Amino acid sequence: MKKIILIFALFLIATTVANARSFKAVVRTESNQANEQMVELEDLISEDSFDGKYFKIVKGKSNDAVKFDAEADLVFRAATSYYHLTLARNYFINKVKSEYVSKIEKMVIRIEHTNQFSELGHFAHDNLDPQFNNALTVPAGKGLSSRGIQPWGPEIWFRAKKKTHISDLNTNNLANQEFKVLMRGFRNQIHMQSLQRFLASSVSVMVSGASNSNPFSVDSLIRTVGSSLIMEFGYQFIDPITKATSRKWYWLDTALIPEIIYHEYSHAALADHLVLSHSTAIIEGMADFFAGQIAGSPKLAKHIKKYNTFNGKNAKKKQDYVIQFEMSEYANTDFVFGLLWEMKNILGEEKGEAFMYDLRKRLTTNSTIRGQLVDGLIKTCEAVCDRPFIDKINILKALNLKGI
Ligand SMILES: [Zn+2]
Repeated sequence: MKKIILIFALFLIATTVANARSFKAVVRTESNQANEQMVELEDLISEDSFDGKYFKIVKGKSNDAVKFDAEADLVFRAATSYYHLTLARNYFINKVKSEYVSKIEKMVIRIEHTNQFSELGHFAHDNLDPQFNNALTVPAGKGLSSRGIQPWGPEIWFRAKKKTHISDLNTNNLANQEFKVLMRGFRNQIHMQSLQRFLASSVSVMVSGASNSNPFSVDSLIRTVGSSLIMEFGYQFIDPITKATSRKWYWLDTALIPEIIYHEYSHAALADHLVLSHSTAIIEGMADFFAGQIAGSPKLAKHIKKYNTFNGKNAKKKQDYVIQFEMSEYANTDFVFGLLWEMKNILGEEKGEAFMYDLRKRLTTNSTIRGQLVDGLIKTCEAVCDRPFIDKINILKALNLKGI
């Protein structure tokens, strides 16, 4: 009898181990440091690769899921992105009660992927300005049967990291500064565009050797990884491996940064109304808002309050807010993010979250801040606020204070 029990126990242990699917991934500590931890991955359907019910993690242009026994770096990125994508999906289904998200078909997630996106061809040619240090969510496509290009669903792409010395970035008088100083300069001088565009365009200008030094001129990114707040937060707290030996090197290993993973998934989750055609202040600010909610970090909340351009700067001041900057290329994502965050604080955490999810129905990718966003806030309040009259006054007061 003892023997049978022992065999049964061994059998149980063996099957538990086989189903556990534990992997090393980046997880935030309570103080928001990036930490390597063992995590369990849910809903995997493959025995030997990162192929799950809702996500399939592939490398670059491949269609095959990354194998569990692939090289360690790749497995680490696959596990981290799979883990945080699952958290983000669970958030939208369980917390926000999104029916749309529960119906999203299984998504292909590309890591270490450098090709640009092509609406017709899915992937642009390998040699066409390969992309690093960012991430994007791409809309579904019909494919091109005459060229053998299969249709594809919405996908998230995480680019490979590429270390670039700060002095090589086209940051004018900010060259050779520590990253922190660079960030401050960015906020004070050029926070009208996203940090990613600012840095990434500088990098691509450098790589292509072009003499054009205007960071506004490169228009190759259709979507970026969010506001400077999320990016800086990711940058400051990312580095489980190198422990930030030098602040003079810039890179973003996006598949390892939880907030960026949440940001990208939020794009997909909000795509029932905010279609993934191009990047605007509204679409990025909304994705950042939900990335912030999923992260649920008090430290991030403090950071947002301290640095957001909505709270920190006055929209009446011309240098801080110019109506032309609402055009997608010069969109001020930080401003929208800060605005939404402040609205949530006015309405209260729970209500504010439901409010923002409802707000998306009254917005489109092309909405402007002073137009549809303000209008959407008021109409959403009429629909969902507990005390619509008082809450509307509070919202308008807060907007008014900022000159909107
Ligand atoms: Zn984005």
